[in-house]
Amino acid sequence: MKREPKIGFVSLGCPKALVDSEQILTRLRAEGYGIVPSYAAADLVVVNTCGFIDAAVAESLDAIGEALAENGKVIVTGCLGAKGNVVRDLHPSVLAVTGPHACQEVLAAVHAHLPRPHDPFQDLVPPQGIKLTPRHYAYLKISEGCNHRCAFCVIPQLRGDLISRPIGEVLKEAETLVRAGVKELLVVSQDTSAYGADARYRTGFWNGRPLKTHLNALAAALGEFGVWVRLHYVYPYPHVDALVPLMAEGRLLPYLDVPLQHASPRILKAMKRPANADDTLARIRRWRELCPDIALRSTFIVGFPGETAADFERLLEFLAEAELDRVGCFSYSPVEGAAANHLPDPVDDGVKRERQARLMALQATISAGRLRRKIGQTLTVLVDAVRDDGTAVARSAADAPEIDGVVYLEKAGDLSAGDFVRARIAGADEHDLFGERL
Ligand code: SF4
Repeated sequence: MKREPKIGFVSLGCPKALVDSEQILTRLRAEGYGIVPSYAAADLVVVNTCGFIDAAVAESLDAIGEALAENGKVIVTGCLGAKGNVVRDLHPSVLAVTGPHACQEVLAAVHAHLPRPHDPFQDLVPPQGIKLTPRHYAYLKISEGCNHRCAFCVIPQLRGDLISRPIGEVLKEAETLVRAGVKELLVVSQDTSAYGADARYRTGFWNGRPLKTHLNALAAALGEFGVWVRLHYVYPYPHVDALVPLMAEGRLLPYLDVPLQHASPRILKAMKRPANADDTLARIRRWRELCPDIALRSTFIVGFPGETAADFERLLEFLAEAELDRVGCFSYSPVEGAAANHLPDPVDDGVKRERQARLMALQATISAGRLRRKIGQTLTVLVDAVRDDGTAVARSAADAPEIDGVVYLEKAGDLSAGDFVRARIAGADEHDLFGERL
């Protein structure tokens, strides 16, 4: 029988640190690691440190030194890990250092230095976990929470400030998904462009390769897997421009989901949105110069408190000029706890509905026009399903699952979900394309 890898664990500090230790130990046991009480019996030692007062710092540093001397393979976590380079300055040979409450990071470091055991009798789930999406695409969440404070939104209250997942952990998950047959990775978060800002873009590691915790580094690395990579919730910050050449080179899907919400400067300010419509238009023009095929999707809110007829017209003018490929539009409604609830001048419900209908009617003509330009083109599409009548329901690079349109292919033949196929486009309406497989 295969020997289970064994971990020694030293837990120092206050009850909060103890809870962190319990969580890490629980996860390690659940993954099949053995926990042993001596340095000699351990393959690797985790030391959870305290950094509260000088005596606790000294005790933690001593414990790390002892574990290194007795065992040699040591991962440090806890409050002392958050104090700059204190640990590495004295003990440069430790394998990894994390701050407190960093169960995921500790697990990732353990996996990197002592591979997790695989036991088919214990592993009740496949390595990629249980997915609610079809086998051929998967969402890849790169961070949690948000540092913005948009007036209509309570996400930061519910999920806290931005916390980016370590880049090595995200790429490991992506690799596992691709190995399991996933053909399309959908990168999601509340604010994808901000990835890594909370971690000060620190350098992480993936397969021994140093990579900055930054969206551009992450996207470039994901582009190496040879599957479709689609980016959602990307705010148009300047560094996003550098992603567009990767799209033009075919390393990322030429698709950006950019939630803009409005175009009137007055309303954007009232919404506390991090954007400016004129800059956005210039940026869109530049993206299209760099990558003419790029598909742009956005969402907008109409009827935000204080929105005048002039503000709404400004939004329509923006849409006419931006010619986005896909647009979602919501009528503003208050969310319990949101700052916008206290704003004056609410917009009448009937006016909201009428504005929403006008916006969607304008966008329908724009979307239909953009789809019509694809007639006669040959596109690569990914099959999502084959219907009983023999029609394949597929998507092109411009279509995200669930939210965008699809490409219908008659006479699917032997196609099945997850197949890539070349298709000639013969028709279009305002949402979908119609074609035949080549
Ligand atoms: S709308 Fe998006 S960017 Fe704004 S606070 Fe909510 S999650 Fe953050």
